[in-house]
Amino acid sequence: MNDFNKLDLNKDILKNLEDLKFTQMTEIQKMSLPYALQKKDIIAQAKTGSGKTLAFCLPILQNLNVKQFDIQAILLAPTRELANQISSQMIKLARFTHNVKILTLCGGMPYKPQVHSLGHKAHIIIGTPGRILKHLEDDNLSTTLISTLVLDEADRMLDMGFSEDIHKIIKYLPKKRQTLLFSATYPENIDNLSNEITNDAINIEVISKEEKPDIKEVFYEVSENQKDEIIFNILGDEKKSSTIIFCNTKIACNNLANKLENLGIDVLVLHSDMDQKQRNETLILFSNKSFLVLIASDVASRGIDVKDVEMVLNYDLPFDLEVYTHRIGRTARAGKSGLCISLVNEDSLQLFDELNENNNYTLDQISKINRDCKFNLLAPYQTLFINSGKKHKLRAGDILGALTAGLGLDKNDVGKIDILDLCSFVAIKNNKAKKVCDDLNHTKIKAKYHKVYLI
Ligand code: ADP
Ligand code: MG
Repeated sequence: MNDFNKLDLNKDILKNLEDLKFTQMTEIQKMSLPYALQKKDIIAQAKTGSGKTLAFCLPILQNLNVKQFDIQAILLAPTRELANQISSQMIKLARFTHNVKILTLCGGMPYKPQVHSLGHKAHIIIGTPGRILKHLEDDNLSTTLISTLVLDEADRMLDMGFSEDIHKIIKYLPKKRQTLLFSATYPENIDNLSNEITNDAINIEVISKEEKPDIKEVFYEVSENQKDEIIFNILGDEKKSSTIIFCNTKIACNNLANKLENLGIDVLVLHSDMDQKQRNETLILFSNKSFLVLIASDVASRGIDVKDVEMVLNYDLPFDLEVYTHRIGRTARAGKSGLCISLVNEDSLQLFDELNENNNYTLDQISKINRDCKFNLLAPYQTLFINSGKKHKLRAGDILGALTAGLGLDKNDVGKIDILDLCSFVAIKNNKAKKVCDDLNHTKIKAKYHKVYLI
């Protein structure tokens, strides 16, 4: 039974959803899509990982007039990472809707090329509020045909102080439009915003019990100087194939990374000092299983959607409950179960109590952790970097073809393939990667030779 068939969606879209194996709607999708598809305004709250992206992407695609080559929808998101994620999801969903042009406009990226791209027109704009406002102020965006505005993670955008920018953006948009506001939490100050920018909105809140992610939460009482060793022991004890470790500061991230590297565990680090390119690359290497451990600070990690994160480790307890909730929301995505282990030192006992106010957590003793010092945490894949991407019309199928038909590699030896604008990343089973890299430098992909490196 395919849930989506009940909706009034184009055949192309339905076929694509089927191909993507989206067959059961999540709660928030069930509750919002029927209204959103009728162009009603929506104020929706549902937790992280509940499938909100699909709930606002589908109505936009369904109601898009592709022949009308002008901007018809604007989507605002708090961070570049999130904007990029929405953009990839939208592109995936639009696969069978011909000629849809989607542009991502985020701050921290060069401005001029964005202006240039806008000159070639687009149907859907996704971006961060500051940068979109700048384009509006500079008259780079034609707004007359905009019929849908989406605010994703509205709570977070308010937190980050985007309120004023959002209000300014609204002034440029047609009054008669659909507004969809999505949020993981519903803080008080959101009411003002939502009242102002929506019209006769349907309020939707998903809080059902079974939606609660299946996350086992464990807390260990430790002293500060035991932390590194305990993290190491937990990694060895659990042997998960995908772990994110959160530290409160980037210095702590780097220190821990050095310690674990010295103990023979390969780790990736993600923090706010890194530029967008480095962050994207890091996330690619983590999600394609070339590294099993990612150490991150909060700022850098918001909105990350890496599938199959099995364990979250809190090296430090975060300073508030909301951040804790966001951290543990990185695991148990899309119905999977997860594990979150937090280290609580003397300084964070009070935080633990606050966290525990409505819960029934206990503080465990570290003697419960096995000390298996001889474990290995070998990542199953290594990543090849190919000096060619979307702009060169390279597709995943071309690479897969070169690897299997060309080099005779088994399909199972090829992992995730990520194609970016100018380059691509291909995960290859560990023991084959070196040879495949050498061979691929002398094999044509899509009738051309490409430079290939092993990362
Ligand atoms: P949110 O924005 O609410 O945090 P996302 O939209 O990022 O959640 O969705 C979380 C994950 O669930 C994504 O990997 C997405 O592809 C997947 N997902 C969304 N809807 C469905 C569905 N109906 N069936 C299966 N997977 C889904
Ligand atoms: Mg989301």
